Amino acid sequence: MTRATIPAKAYTDPGPVRAIPDADTLNLPLAGRFACVADGAWVDADETVALPTRPDALPLHAPLAGAVHLADDVLVLTPTGAESSPPAPARPADTIEFLALLRDMGVAGLGGAGFPTHLKLRPGLDMLIVNAVECEPGVSADQAVLESRIDELIAALDRLVDLIGPAETVIAVDGHNARAKDLLASRAGAFRLADAPAAHPAGSERQLVAALTGNPLAPGERPAARRIALINLSTLAAIADAFDGRPMSHRVVTVHGDACSDPGNFRIAFGTPIAHIANVLGGDDVTAIRTGGSLTGSLAAPGAVVGPGTLAVELLRHTPAREAVPCIRCGVCAPVCPEQLNPQRLLESLPSPNGDTTDSRNPGLDACLLCGACTAVCPSAIPLNDLFRAGRAALRAERAANAAADRARERFERHAARDRARAARRAERLRSRRQKADAKALIAAAKGRRT
Ligand code: SF4
Ligand code: SF4
Repeated sequence: MTRATIPAKAYTDPGPVRAIPDADTLNLPLAGRFACVADGAWVDADETVALPTRPDALPLHAPLAGAVHLADDVLVLTPTGAESSPPAPARPADTIEFLALLRDMGVAGLGGAGFPTHLKLRPGLDMLIVNAVECEPGVSADQAVLESRIDELIAALDRLVDLIGPAETVIAVDGHNARAKDLLASRAGAFRLADAPAAHPAGSERQLVAALTGNPLAPGERPAARRIALINLSTLAAIADAFDGRPMSHRVVTVHGDACSDPGNFRIAFGTPIAHIANVLGGDDVTAIRTGGSLTGSLAAPGAVVGPGTLAVELLRHTPAREAVPCIRCGVCAPVCPEQLNPQRLLESLPSPNGDTTDSRNPGLDACLLCGACTAVCPSAIPLNDLFRAGRAALRAERAANAAADRARERFERHAARDRARAARRAERLRSRRQKADAKALIAAAKGRRT
């Protein structure tokens, strides 16, 4: 099948990174962490307020000075506006100290997945890729970070490479992004500057590895299996902050959309309610909010807050999708799929609302990147990637429920087998006791006859 792509994005001036007024309260989800400060405590900006309970969780730092209130699974911070003390720069001497620094500073991937960076970087890498391919239309947060902090970023990359020593370091940019290429051309030094295909989702991990190595990842294969690590450009900025002694507690967010009064890129504290951003930068006519990008994102849930994966907030005046109509089987969606899936078939095989889900009926859902390329071209306006996201969540919930049921059945069978073995032993003891009693009785009877 001839592959098609959705139109390349136009790169324009992202403008400076600006600030918005702080929200009255920040809601910091604890997810996999426990609060290490008391309810009602006053904390400084950058102070560690929660520690991980799982190996894949990171500590949480107060984005601002303020008072802490502990609620169910959320740490609520009421900022006081107090100044924070200047950070102390860190000088990790080797890889171990460097990875410990990233962990302690809570550095997570800012490209969307939020995976702890210290678990990705390690010595012995064949290739380290700095992913500056921000191919999603409307999003320019990485571009704004690149343009405002280019020298810091290159200096941090130099230190990072010295500390982990990858065989090759590549900075990947969209081939159409002349602004980024011009900026990096004179500064990249020994790092290879590579063009990625100018089409969404060229910046996804799998597409980028295929483009840079010429050897696509197998289904389910992770870059780490090839000794390749990818870090997003904004994550590199967070690593620069960690070297300066500043933990990850904010990120640059693109705020845009037809109901946004002042579109641009803003440095926003984690835990800031999305509703606060809509209040500051939207008008009364905001009727829907998408987070995470126009193509890959989804409608913001009530109470949603800014976190590492909040690349963008789109404030919309109308409901984002046209009225969806049934699939007309036109096949337009298949040629744009970067993973060679057939979105139409995937749609037909989605779990039904009555819970009829099986892995065999949904073989492509795990491979779907949720990139939204199929949604962008669908003439029936079917929100395919939203449906695939929901379908995958249902499928994973079903798998987890099935696994729990299997474990419960195995436990029950083990108990039943133990009960059966115990009953058999008891019966055996009884039988043996009876045999002994019978034998005794026989002996006694025989003795009686002799006398
Ligand atoms: S959302 Fe999934 S099915 Fe649709 S184009 Fe992207 S990878 Fe393919
Ligand atoms: S593009 Fe839309 S209408 Fe056409 S086959 Fe795919 S899902 Fe159906």
